[in-house]
Amino acid sequence: MHYELYMSAALAEAAGAAARGERCDGAVGVLDDAMVASAADQVRGSGDPTAHAVMVTIREAAERMGTTSLQGMTIYAVVEPCAMCVGALLESDVDGLVYAVPDPVSGAAGSALQLASNGVLGRRLNVVSGILQDDAVEVLRTNGKRAAAHPAAAAGH
Ligand SMILES: [Zn+2]
Repeated sequence: MHYELYMSAALAEAAGAAARGERCDGAVGVLDDAMVASAADQVRGSGDPTAHAVMVTIREAAERMGTTSLQGMTIYAVVEPCAMCVGALLESDVDGLVYAVPDPVSGAAGSALQLASNGVLGRRLNVVSGILQDDAVEVLRTNGKRAAAHPAAAAGH
């Protein structure tokens, strides 16, 4: 697995989002060592409050692959996904989630909530965290206001 390579791509998406005035977050979808989708947060530009980077990446991957089941796919996200995004990952049969920075306010992969590995739901995600965390904290700090008020980001240094 090329964790750092794919996380770098997600970080580039996040920096691009911030440059367009969006929340600084990005994600990529990887299947069999190939990047099949990548997206940045698009909430403000699209006017769609559900257009988080992970959601847009899932939609793009499903469209490109022509299937609604993303079995075998791993999603790389800069910031730990929220409850909506983790729910969408589970509903789309994604296998793995890799994120850089935990989100103690709304992260649903173990920080604020644990939906990624919850026996009640009957599905789970393999989660790896902390990949390129220092780089991600730096990108959040320089590009996003969110980083300034982000306890995890502040604690990273
Ligand atoms: Zn989300």
